[in-house]
Amino acid sequence: MKTRLIASILASVILLSACGADKTSDKPSITSSKITVVTTLSIFQEITKKIVHTTPTTVESIIPSGAEPHDFEPTPQNILALKDADLFIYNGLTSIEPWLTKTLSFLPSTAQLNISKVATLRENDPHYWLDPENDIRAVDAIQKALSEKDPANKVMYEKNAQNLKTELRLLDMTYATQLKTCEIRTIVTAHDAYNYLAKRYNIEMHAIAGLSPESEPDAKTIAAIIKLVKEKQIPYILFETLASPKIAETIAEEAGVQTLVLNPIEGLTEEEKAAGKNFMSLMEENLTVLKKAMKCTM
Ligand SMILES: [Zn+2]
Repeated sequence: MKTRLIASILASVILLSACGADKTSDKPSITSSKITVVTTLSIFQEITKKIVHTTPTTVESIIPSGAEPHDFEPTPQNILALKDADLFIYNGLTSIEPWLTKTLSFLPSTAQLNISKVATLRENDPHYWLDPENDIRAVDAIQKALSEKDPANKVMYEKNAQNLKTELRLLDMTYATQLKTCEIRTIVTAHDAYNYLAKRYNIEMHAIAGLSPESEPDAKTIAAIIKLVKEKQIPYILFETLASPKIAETIAEEAGVQTLVLNPIEGLTEEEKAAGKNFMSLMEENLTVLKKAMKCTM
């Protein structure tokens, strides 16, 4: 039913665009800084907000707070909002945004920024924002796209992007240093979200579920993980904020170990937002959790 509704709205949107082919020229002139940016993941919203800083640009994420992005499907209102966006920034991989292909068909390519095109990818794994190197690439791509839409503020966008990249480099160095000397190099996580992070900081990751938190493990996988936890004396099972902790908790109980929260930062909960948390602060919290789970000495 929902899909049919979206399809009919899409059809009318396409029809409207066809009728008023010159509609785009009604948009604010190129020197105006009042542009509208819509993003999928909150990390892209955060990067964009930091780059546009105090300009009157609006930056909205279509994924509501507390929603698990793998489960998200745009509403007809989301689709209509996209039609008016000067720039739509998205992850680009179907393993997290399966609804994307049909939604993008009516958006001009100049209004689209697919971050997966600039990130270094590991197959179809969409969690590339957990490697700061990819966030730096995202910062560059977003800065460039904003500067093209709003050349009057180009110098300021470049400066803000530079500052943000410095923060990300510092974060990366802190991770590398503090995760270097640890008793344990294996972690067990709720879903397969940490390949990029694990690869970058030399961690062996075992996930209970697949690339999406909904891909439930079978009994054999669960048994293998319990065996691994016991053999490697892994002290904690790491579960996450936006998905159900049930299976992770069951495994921890059966293996006789504790749980900790490792956040894949796929989005922010209402509580995290209210507490002023963001990607940077959550990455710092994750580092504290990893150091505890891996028994690091730094
Ligand atoms: Zn995920």
